Amino acid sequence: MRSRLWFWKYPLSFLLLLLIVAAFTFVYSLTEMAGAPYQRTDPPENAVVETPDPGDSPDDPEDDPEDIPEDNPEDEPEDDPEPVFIEQGFISIELDEREIHQGYLLLVNHDHTYTIPNDLDLVRITEATTTNFRVQPDTSRLLRSIIEPLDEMMGDFRRVIGDRTVAIRSAYRNYDSQRSIFNSWVSQVGRQEALMWAALPGHSEHHTGLAFDFGILSSNGTLTTFTGTGNTSWFRRNSYKYGFILRYQQSKTRITQTANEPWHFRYVGLPHSALIHQKNWCLEEFIENIRDYTYEEPLEFEYDGVIYGVYFAEGTSIRIPINTEFNVSGNNIDGFIVTVTWQETEPDIAPEV
Ligand SMILES: [Zn+2]
Repeated sequence: MRSRLWFWKYPLSFLLLLLIVAAFTFVYSLTEMAGAPYQRTDPPENAVVETPDPGDSPDDPEDDPEDIPEDNPEDEPEDDPEPVFIEQGFISIELDEREIHQGYLLLVNHDHTYTIPNDLDLVRITEATTTNFRVQPDTSRLLRSIIEPLDEMMGDFRRVIGDRTVAIRSAYRNYDSQRSIFNSWVSQVGRQEALMWAALPGHSEHHTGLAFDFGILSSNGTLTTFTGTGNTSWFRRNSYKYGFILRYQQSKTRITQTANEPWHFRYVGLPHSALIHQKNWCLEEFIENIRDYTYEEPLEFEYDGVIYGVYFAEGTSIRIPINTEFNVSGNNIDGFIVTVTWQETEPDIAPEV
């Protein structure tokens, strides 16, 4: 009796089990279809996410039958037609043409003019710095955002070298002050020679608020020429650590078309100052050489334990690898220099003592 009952019960429970399995399989496959098979990262606010060409839409099966997801349930996520930007691994950002003339990597020289914007954020150096170095005249101004690295550099120089004679003698200049400087050179050495020592109005780095000239404070309170020798050679060797470069060197006069000026420093920011230092480039060479690198094949280099990729984007449309930290600067000519932070290398772990 007991065994017969079991005999009848068995196929019933088997059928029930089959039904449950079938139901689970059905629900699971629905979940798979509805669920997101890829991860999407929200692009930055002004990012333009690439959308697939309407011609390749899955709504047009005749167009490209292989792209129909329903027919290829085992497709890898990158075959999904929707997230084209994931497949390429880049987001596209559209910038304003005016931004080509903004940033820390602007090339301003005899060939490339600079229009001083009305809203240049300048600040009086003496009011903004904490290191007590001389600025003459004390109304001299620089871009607010470069005051902190300048202050840090001046503080370190004084601490390490113990020299308190280095002063800033010229910083931001408007067109009028550049014009009078240029004209004064012309009256002394003639126009041809003057062009090697001073830029025409509109062509000076001093218009950007990113450049300044050092002088040496003499015992009678006047300023003398900063030669970059002795104690002050420290700036040539170390300024890149703070984002500054020695802009006009003797070895580059043919490229810069400017005489050797050991006193003129220019802010380009890190890590670019370190790259320029590593490569022994002047700014003209940096701007030119970076044109060989693209978002697909950037120039890779390491500074201070971090690996960077730098590349050029002509025009106003730039591409950035997704999920990557980046910064952008115009080159003041025809496009943008993009810098991405690839990865931080393993920090040196100091042994515990
Ligand atoms: Zn200068």
